[in-house]
Amino acid sequence: MTKVLHLNKETIKQMENHYREYISLTVPQGAIFLARVTGCTITAYRSGKVMFQGAKFESEVNLWLQSNKDSFKTISTKTVSTKPKQVHTLPRNFETLSIIGSDEVGTGDYFGPVVVASAFVEQSNIPILQQLGVQDSKDLTDKQISDIAQKIISIIPYSLLVLHNEKYNNLQQSGYNQGKIKAILHNQALLNTSKRIAPKNPDGILIDQFCEPGVYYNYLKNEDNVIRDNVYFSTKAEGVHLAVAAASIIARYAFVQHFDLLSKDVGFTLPKGAGAKVDEIAASLIAQKGEDFLHTISKMHFANTRKARDIFHSKYK
Ligand code: MN
Repeated sequence: MTKVLHLNKETIKQMENHYREYISLTVPQGAIFLARVTGCTITAYRSGKVMFQGAKFESEVNLWLQSNKDSFKTISTKTVSTKPKQVHTLPRNFETLSIIGSDEVGTGDYFGPVVVASAFVEQSNIPILQQLGVQDSKDLTDKQISDIAQKIISIIPYSLLVLHNEKYNNLQQSGYNQGKIKAILHNQALLNTSKRIAPKNPDGILIDQFCEPGVYYNYLKNEDNVIRDNVYFSTKAEGVHLAVAAASIIARYAFVQHFDLLSKDVGFTLPKGAGAKVDEIAASLIAQKGEDFLHTISKMHFANTRKARDIFHSKYK
């Protein structure tokens, strides 16, 4: 009972997160991870090949198969696939339409909350947003983001959701992986903005894609209210419509503000990201304030926690 899928890097990352608790410590040559769940062993290779072996391979495969239902559209074309994936292109002149966009910040940072924002950018607001410098937030400094965000939040309807670390850690421990948490937040932010602009309807909704649409809707299968109509997914969506660029700026602005508050709390500037500097700082925080404190400012399931404990035990004890 073996099935092989060819999946893109993003999906494999998603899978690695999904199977996190079942991942084996040793991996075969050329593999990214090997996970054993009841009735199925999943091995993902750097080449994009993913092997499902065992009696219950089918249910696992179905989780990751690119669904071709009409309930979603995808414009992601970067995929290593044996079969060409069904690609729905965006409506013509998409960048000029009235769109609700959503994006998230903080998911790769050990310290700080996860922030998701959605924003509605109407056709008529596009010129003013361009004038204010709304563009891909990755090209902007924190100061520019703060200046632009403060201006645009009084112009466009938006929704901002901040998931603080304690709540995030609780959700994570009760079985929500990060992808599911993100999906729930995006869906909620989109619902909020849709309600805010009603009875007006957007021409479409664009989500900055963090997983395959099929996986996204699977994460939302137990939610009562799921936005599906006119929903498009795109990677690098900040460059596809200003609504996502605006959402991204609002989310980043809120993230930076919360991050600064946490830094004030600990008395020094916390490092962003999830690198070696973060391990060192987390270890010193365990030494100073105890591990419980980490729960309130970090994403505990990141490997940084384990590394910080190791540093703490070898350096501070
Ligand atoms: Mn994004």
